[in-house]
Amino acid sequence: LLAGKCRIIQNDYAKRTFYGFAVSKGDHCMPLNLSQMSQGISASVTLKQNALVAELRAQGLDVIGLGAGEPDFNTPEHIRDAAKKAIDTGKTRYTDTSGLPELRRAISEFLKRDKGLSYPPSDIIVGTGAKQAIMGALLAILNPGDEVILPAPCWVSYPEMIRMAGGVPVVVHTTAEQGFIPDIQAVAAAVTPRTKAVLLNTPGNPTGAVWPESALLSLGNLAVDKGFYILSDEIYEKLVYDGAKHVSVAALSPDIFRQTVMISGFSKAYAMTGWRLGYAAGPHDLIAAMGAYQSHATGNPTSISQYAGLAAITGDQACVADMAKAFAARRILMLDCIRQIPLLSAVEPQGAFYIMLDVRKLMGKTADGVVLQDSGDFADALLKKCQVAVVPGEPFYAPGFCRLSYAIANDKIVESMRRIRVFVEGVIAG
Ligand code: PMP
Ligand code: GLU
Repeated sequence: LLAGKCRIIQNDYAKRTFYGFAVSKGDHCMPLNLSQMSQGISASVTLKQNALVAELRAQGLDVIGLGAGEPDFNTPEHIRDAAKKAIDTGKTRYTDTSGLPELRRAISEFLKRDKGLSYPPSDIIVGTGAKQAIMGALLAILNPGDEVILPAPCWVSYPEMIRMAGGVPVVVHTTAEQGFIPDIQAVAAAVTPRTKAVLLNTPGNPTGAVWPESALLSLGNLAVDKGFYILSDEIYEKLVYDGAKHVSVAALSPDIFRQTVMISGFSKAYAMTGWRLGYAAGPHDLIAAMGAYQSHATGNPTSISQYAGLAAITGDQACVADMAKAFAARRILMLDCIRQIPLLSAVEPQGAFYIMLDVRKLMGKTADGVVLQDSGDFADALLKKCQVAVVPGEPFYAPGFCRLSYAIANDKIVESMRRIRVFVEGVIAG
């Protein structure tokens, strides 16, 4: 059975045949180098930023981190209690590799109630964060060289995930003036016979853009017309402001539904980033393929996190609304502060918890003897001089912008904006 896929090696000692990979030393061995895939992948800049801030703080520096893409709130108490109970009652064993049946049932009911989407629990997979769900979906659909259309600016992990799955990211750039939402003609122009999917993220990281229903419908119809999947990352779905409405593209027509993988998770809505719990719902065969991959790659997501997730999704949703309300107020506060800083401006976001700070007017000016040539120079100089950490836009395909997270306390927002103002005034003064 295995002979077609593995080398058969002879064990001389036992004179028996085993199936496996040759491990003998000899001149026929491969050189000890890394795979081409891993040589082309860089580590997540957003997570590196978090680590850098932690390191600087450990050195005693008073750094304010606007880089972290995670809620600063503690996970709500009833969710933490459910996890403690799971530990104490022995819910610490392997579960169904695609997630606890009761959790998938609860997600199925939630999706029906919340987004009008009908997925049976068997068409839902729970994984180790939305990250694993996205990676699993890409691995399930991509052959080497297949293309995935990526409206940008986009989250730093998307292009790397596509490459890790053997695909080719095809970036469709958008501008602040377009509200970071592409014209459907630009997306259509990027379609080739190799197009396998579009990777959509609304509300979006890093822009906070929320796609209106009309744009989603055009994209969905294009996918149906040309025959490619839509991977719809909706992890920030609960964080929308100013009357903006989150719509799932999968809800727009039965044809679109059949070609969409809807991805979400617990990290942002329930402040559960460390618990590593996310999910995908989609076509039966695709979710089954993701399940087969997951059964080998990681097995089930942590049992304790799954019981916590069950309490989150079936429990009182007031905690979600309370956190969203706090983010809404912080968004206004940060935008107001930015408006008072000369030469800087911001694109008003409608969702998530990020603001794109436009630093283009500072380019060519000098900070501490360094000519600022890109947003990375701005971010470096700001951190060095004023101990405020922001993420440069280049890795998000947003040159000339920095991403600021307002998932921090009000006083920190005010103080960080004061420091940025002092920094900019210093640059202007020369
Ligand atoms: N999608 C987007 C757009 C994100 O910003 C994040 C941030 N972590 C994720 C997916 C992954 O979330 P997690 O793996 O924590 O569920
Ligand atoms: N998604 C968050 C961010 O963009 C968390 C870090 C990560 O996973 O990239 O900052």
